[in-house]
Amino acid sequence: MPSNPGVLSFEDARHSVESHASILSPQGKELVELLDSVGRVLAEPIAADRNFPPFPRATRDGFAVRASDLAQLPVDLRVVGEIRAGAQTSIKVESGQAAAIMTGAPAPPGADAVVMVEYTSSSSDTVQITKGIVAGENIVPAGAEAKRGEKLLSPGMRLDAAAIAVAASVGRTRLLVYVKPRVAILATGDEIVDIDVPPAAAQIRNSNSCSLAAQVQAAGGEPLLLPIAADKAERLRELINDGLDADLLLLTGGVSMGKYDLVEQVLADFNAEFFFTGARIQPGKPVVFGRVPHMSEAREFRYFFGLPGNPISTMVTFELFAKPVLEALAGLTPQKLVFLHAKLKSEVTMKPGLKRFLPGLLSGEFENAGVESLRWQGSGDIAATARANCYIVIAADREKIEAGEFVPVFLR
Ligand code: AMP
Ligand code: MG
Repeated sequence: MPSNPGVLSFEDARHSVESHASILSPQGKELVELLDSVGRVLAEPIAADRNFPPFPRATRDGFAVRASDLAQLPVDLRVVGEIRAGAQTSIKVESGQAAAIMTGAPAPPGADAVVMVEYTSSSSDTVQITKGIVAGENIVPAGAEAKRGEKLLSPGMRLDAAAIAVAASVGRTRLLVYVKPRVAILATGDEIVDIDVPPAAAQIRNSNSCSLAAQVQAAGGEPLLLPIAADKAERLRELINDGLDADLLLLTGGVSMGKYDLVEQVLADFNAEFFFTGARIQPGKPVVFGRVPHMSEAREFRYFFGLPGNPISTMVTFELFAKPVLEALAGLTPQKLVFLHAKLKSEVTMKPGLKRFLPGLLSGEFENAGVESLRWQGSGDIAATARANCYIVIAADREKIEAGEFVPVFLR
């Protein structure tokens, strides 16, 4: 069997995933309508098709003037015309003159600033100005935001509203995005039944395939749900074989130390290389990451994660470890995991030894946000995690954290 470094610290496990993610790339590109590209990963550079702004743009309603005319105040200037947004004009402003101008209109030649209408009083052909101004104020010069040809968006970014605004502003009605990776999801366990089957007393509905499908979709993948695998090596082998056709295989359950936890053993039969078979975290300690040689086409390997079956462990380990690999397959530029900090509302105590991700509730308003740990029955408690909106991250060596301390928080 290939080498297996076993159980890693949380940080080492995360770095292992990131280093593998860094060598992965997506399988193809497709052209989609601009508004269908929201949340997708951009696969082409987007450049400015003209200067931004294309003309010196007034940013206030008021009067276009020469700043040097406003040395002595108040001053009366002759109004030579009005420039509306969208209008082409031949107006020029000379010394002693001003032009009425609207926000978004091109500043006329000769003018170097726009005095806000609030500091003026005008009659039909003169304006009195009561406040001085420096040259350049309230005018954005042509090309100041971006020059024609300059790159505005790079491939590998997720298309959010701001990126859509950029693409729209350069006239793109369609964008080239990366094809979504197909992610096979395989739930294992003799007690697990499909959600449309009435469960017998000791059976459990397969919630993990559904939560994982939701997470896969949110991260930019195409989930493929395989049938539930009973804890029997032969059936597991068949379904893992099917799952290895996808770009990534996620298994849940069967990675603990129990007599019927067969996932690792069956993967080993596929000549799997394991990068870790556990991480010192809670929930999620038995998480497994590895790859299997795959001779078919472009890629030499198929990566897999064996996620622990407890529903919260499954969700947390997906976010912490599987997501970067999925995102790399989706073409996203690698992202580091960042934790925010929030003030703990009430004391937390725990046994040290593992890095904890406790279901938390971030609440409060404006600058007064705080986080509290939710009462839960451990990593099987789906109801508690649904009430949570974050995880509180507790270092492995901490036994107690007092109320008022700032703690790292992982938003999900
Ligand atoms: P395992 O990781 O197989 O030891 O399972 C740990 C716990 O998670 C057990 O209580 C299982 O019943 C539960 N579990 C495993 N797989 C699923 C699943 N697909 N959906 C919901 N619960 C599960
Ligand atoms: Mg099981």
